[in-house]
Amino acid sequence: MNSSTAIDRIQPEFVEQFPANLEPGILYVSIRFSTTAHLCACGCGRQVIAPLNPRRYRMTYDGERVSLKPSIGNWYFPCKSHYWIRKNKIDWSWTFSDSEIEGAQEIHDRRLEGLSEE
Ligand SMILES: [Zn+2]
Repeated sequence: MNSSTAIDRIQPEFVEQFPANLEPGILYVSIRFSTTAHLCACGCGRQVIAPLNPRRYRMTYDGERVSLKPSIGNWYFPCKSHYWIRKNKIDWSWTFSDSEIEGAQEIHDRRLEGLSEE
């Protein structure tokens, strides 16, 4: 993670379709397509797609603040960033135990298998 550009807050923005260029610090939510997109919170500029369905991500929104579960684990990016989006805040994973991170890793590995181009 690049600490000079990492963000610690993210704002939800509800859109029909994602814009071509995502803005950092915005969690784009498309209810129509049941998916979200944001730029990696570390500031590396990569686009993170988190689909909303019971086997991927669940989103809670209280009219102002958004949370996503489980964690965002960008293992397949060079930055390998890992964080939670909780009530518009980015919670970096440093404080979590290895086993919790492994659990998240497993989820993302399974997700990666589905996206494999092999
Ligand atoms: Zn990143």
